[in-house]
Amino acid sequence: PPPQQSPAFQRRRLPGIKHLIVVGSGKGGVGKSTVAVNLAVAFSKLGYKVGLLDADIYGPSVPTMLGIKNQKVEVDAFQRIIPIEKYGMKVMSIGFLLPSEDTPLIWRGPMLMKALMQFLFDVKWGSLDFLVLDLPPGTGDVQLTLAQTVEMDGAIVVTTPQDVALADVKKAVVMFKEVGVPVLGVIENMAYFVCPETGNKYYIFGKGRVLGFAQAYGLNVLGSIPIEPEVSETSDTGVPVVESYPESASAKAFLNIAKII
Ligand code: ADP
Repeated sequence: PPPQQSPAFQRRRLPGIKHLIVVGSGKGGVGKSTVAVNLAVAFSKLGYKVGLLDADIYGPSVPTMLGIKNQKVEVDAFQRIIPIEKYGMKVMSIGFLLPSEDTPLIWRGPMLMKALMQFLFDVKWGSLDFLVLDLPPGTGDVQLTLAQTVEMDGAIVVTTPQDVALADVKKAVVMFKEVGVPVLGVIENMAYFVCPETGNKYYIFGKGRVLGFAQAYGLNVLGSIPIEPEVSETSDTGVPVVESYPESASAKAFLNIAKII
């Protein structure tokens, strides 16, 4: 059925962007930014024109994950922000505006929304096949206002198999449904660990729970990403796993998800 849209708010479509995909989560620390970054790189590797917007305003990790944390953005003669280019993508993050990595952002809600709107509408994205938007975790004011102001083509929700993560991810799914953003599916992160010596699979955070949750909500599981040292290592080195270890199970899973989206 077509999504219900309240007449109380009017959404703006981002010009030139074919698909605006948002990546959200119920909780922090489940790997939302890791997924957003690797999916964006995967789209780029598949030949699409890609942008990545780090809207995780209070914890911008995208610049570190892409090895561009000391970069600063410039504006053109028309005051439009020129995004940073990396791995064939156009990238924008609040991190590019802060004087240093340790500077906390102490803006109130209205300031924040103004900045996010600028990141969406005043950045020279050009024409893109995909703009991947890394949302802040949870279902607060920022996520809700964004979803009500900007036309989003689909949301992906990231969770780990733990009950504490799943309890919160339900709220994110309900929020997207209520504001009429189609939920493309769930990505199960840190699904299992494969022992390098024996090849045995260990379901550290639980087995089958994400599938059960998805079925109960009529959602697809787009893929399961294992816990791999390559993933955490590459978050810090600034070369995403899809780029640095394309043969790893997690990189293959990310590429597969990008293909089915
Ligand atoms: P979030 O955006 O949800 O707060 P991050 O993407 O920042 O989470 O991930 C949190 C930490 O977990 C990071 O250090 C990241 O490298 C690590 N991590 C995420 N996914 C995996 C994985 N599949 N295997 C190993 N480490 C992971």
